[in-house]
Amino acid sequence: MTGIEDSKRLFERANEVVPGGVNSPVRAFRAVGGTPRFMTSAKGPYLTDADGNEYVDLICSWGPMILGHAHPAVVEAVQQAAGRGTSYGAPTPGEVELAEEIVARTPVEKVRLVNSGTEATMSAIRLARGFTGRSKIVKFAGCYHGHVDSLLAAAGSGVATLGLPDTPGVTGATTADTLVLPYNDVTAVEEAFAEYGHEIACVITEAVPCNMGLVPPLPDFNALLKALCGRSGALLIIDEVLTGFRASRSGWYGIEGVPGDLVTFGKVMGGGLPAAAFGGRADIMDHLAPAGPVYQAGTLSGNPLATAAGLATLRNATDEVYTAIDRSAALVAEAASAALAKEGVPHRLQTAGNLFSVFFTDEVVGDFAAAQRQDSKAYAAFFHEALDRGVYLPPSSYEVWFLSAAHDEAALERITDALPHAARAAAEARSAG
Ligand SMILES: *Cc1c(COP(=O)(O)O)cnc(C)c1O
Repeated sequence: MTGIEDSKRLFERANEVVPGGVNSPVRAFRAVGGTPRFMTSAKGPYLTDADGNEYVDLICSWGPMILGHAHPAVVEAVQQAAGRGTSYGAPTPGEVELAEEIVARTPVEKVRLVNSGTEATMSAIRLARGFTGRSKIVKFAGCYHGHVDSLLAAAGSGVATLGLPDTPGVTGATTADTLVLPYNDVTAVEEAFAEYGHEIACVITEAVPCNMGLVPPLPDFNALLKALCGRSGALLIIDEVLTGFRASRSGWYGIEGVPGDLVTFGKVMGGGLPAAAFGGRADIMDHLAPAGPVYQAGTLSGNPLATAAGLATLRNATDEVYTAIDRSAALVAEAASAALAKEGVPHRLQTAGNLFSVFFTDEVVGDFAAAQRQDSKAYAAFFHEALDRGVYLPPSSYEVWFLSAAHDEAALERITDALPHAARAAAEARSAG
């Protein structure tokens, strides 16, 4: 480490002109304390900050960079696209190719491109309501689907609680039609359908919840949701914004095989540029304008640079890429768990395919309430020790750790070398109370 003076100065300047100094909250290090690092470049598995410090990256832009940073094929595709003009406001061949690629890999029959995961889930919910003519939506506590107003509802107590807004600025009216249920709670879902079945437009769920740390679905939980929705005429929206094209070439669907009526995508499919999508059964998707009455639009949707980056990423995401990520994810997960065990730090490794997170608790985390009973101080110490040793972990214990096919032996070794020291720091933070 050569110090972090430039990051400190940039953070001060940022705080003058940007709320909290960042453009997305978790980047600010609030959960772990300290100064966020301002990055200036990235290559393969490494990030470089403004002071010239290099880190092995374990967030991969929160998922998109499965090939690693600045992959030559992606860079070249974007450069060539930029040379042809950055946006036309008219349809392009790249959009057709990206849509075909998504349809070929997933259960969806038709797809609409948008700019962010938030836009994808927001639009999918509007379409579900427009298609069914119903108002209520079901979501699960701890599942994150972007900052859509109606989805920013917390769990109240009891079963089938009507959602209360989670943040100022979202009105009670906006969340009044949102039913928030505890995740993995089959009885709660059955009761909600028994009481409100004829009013429910859709159930939205993360394919595998990864935004409260990783909480695997119980076996058959997604299939049960699919069956209950089918019986009552509601639609199942499976949110694969994070898992899509990462858990496997077909996302979590490639592992579990439960098709959503609608599915949302983002992150990997944009290759690091803003691109996302929602898709599903053709008869449902054809309710979207201009084919149907449900309005949805976007000035930059299907942007030529974003589709070029997304296509180059997906076309280079070969079986070898997934094999490499599966292998390095298992290696890092086991090394983290072993290091924490050796120092007697209570923790729990939870995995689903190549996705994993490390909870700083010793109980099984099956839902959001359990995820909230973590030792955040121990995690902060763990995080900062790793950071000082050139390993950039997620700055919150509510996040999964992301690997890429570019994480080679040298990068993995830097991680496994840092983990025992990070675990020691976590143990010390615990004994210091
Ligand atoms: C990241 C994420 C979103 C939101 O995507 P943005 O592009 O940040 O708007 C939605 N759903 C899930 C499951 C996510 O992980």
